[in-house]
Amino acid sequence: MAKAVNCAKGTGDACDTCLSCRKVASGNHPDVKIVAPVKKSRIINVETIEGVNEFAALRAYESKWRVFVILDADRMGLEAQNHFLKTLEEPPGASLFLLVTEYPRRLLPTIRSRCQMLRFGALRPETVVDLLQAQRDLPLEVARSVAAVAQGQMSRALDLVDSEKRDIVIEIARRLSENDDPMALAEEFSKGLEARREQLAAAVKAETDTEASEDASRDDKKRLKEEQLALVDELSRREILDYLYLFETWYRDELVFQAAGNDHQILNQDHAARIRQAKPSDAGKKIRAVEQARVYLERFINEERVFRDLFFSLAE
Ligand SMILES: [Zn+2]
Repeated sequence: MAKAVNCAKGTGDACDTCLSCRKVASGNHPDVKIVAPVKKSRIINVETIEGVNEFAALRAYESKWRVFVILDADRMGLEAQNHFLKTLEEPPGASLFLLVTEYPRRLLPTIRSRCQMLRFGALRPETVVDLLQAQRDLPLEVARSVAAVAQGQMSRALDLVDSEKRDIVIEIARRLSENDDPMALAEEFSKGLEARREQLAAAVKAETDTEASEDASRDDKKRLKEEQLALVDELSRREILDYLYLFETWYRDELVFQAAGNDHQILNQDHAARIRQAKPSDAGKKIRAVEQARVYLERFINEERVFRDLFFSLAE
């Protein structure tokens, strides 16, 4: 879309060949700015949004439209969203803001009401593979597997490459299949989640505390603390759901392999050997156990307990 609005051919779509389209594609277009979450907490902080606001106030260099693509826009904290709102309320000249998100409801209603909703479909697996290989140093087989598991979502694919989640899930599945103690595994896994939560809390604090100057009122400080805590809760919750998703894809692969008798349709192709060697088991039941874990987590049942129950079901 960033290409289409500035394409020299003016057909309403991107031609992918004119200078403007090529500059956007290579990230060198002076009027197209892409903003993405930074650092460990993966949030978009206030400084970044202030940068957008300043840049938006300038005139476009060489094209009709100045375009801002804000990836994972829901990762703006409340304060960042409020800063951004100022620009949306009085949009400068010909500026287009594309707020890309899987979670539109995480955006303030005041922001949503100023936006128009556009739905973008999933990318083709080949496209995700190409993008992954351009952005990360990955063997083709891994890129293909990650693209398959991510189901056309580029942000999920990058997260799978950059985090250890997938390795952790595959390792747990292996140990459960080799009769490791589910209770001990759940304890270990919960410790990992707890450590990650502390990491997120420290990162969120470091990235949002800059606003809380020493002379802020006690109420302001309290509000900031609550906001930080809510953000940490939300971020670690999403990571836990990512884990469940990965468990689901793993046992889905076992199920598909058992049903089809071959590995053509499995997602985790880079671990096809493991899937082929898996003992015949009731993979459908395991997938239902993962779904049940999701329901329990939505009811805020203690995480360690949820994963203990889940690992017991997966060990059977
Ligand atoms: Zn063009």
